[in-house]
Amino acid sequence: MAVPMDLSVMIGDVVRTRKPHPCGGDEWTVLRTGADIRIRCNTCGRLVLLDRESFLKRRKALVSRPDAPQGGRAP
Ligand SMILES: [Zn+2]
Repeated sequence: MAVPMDLSVMIGDVVRTRKPHPCGGDEWTVLRTGADIRIRCNTCGRLVLLDRESFLKRRKALVSRPDAPQGGRAP
């Protein structure tokens, strides 16, 4: 049973969001997962807490993932 990549969130994921942060950055690092997802803007360092659903809506692409068993996703 395959888990869709779209629904998986792992600590250490670097993701790109649909809308860039006001600082201009659009890459975020996942710091905490669970019912709520805590992410940090890689450009200005701001911390944002989102519920899982909002996070998945905002996420446009997975940039990198540590320990990816599938070997990650090419850009
Ligand atoms: Zn920012």
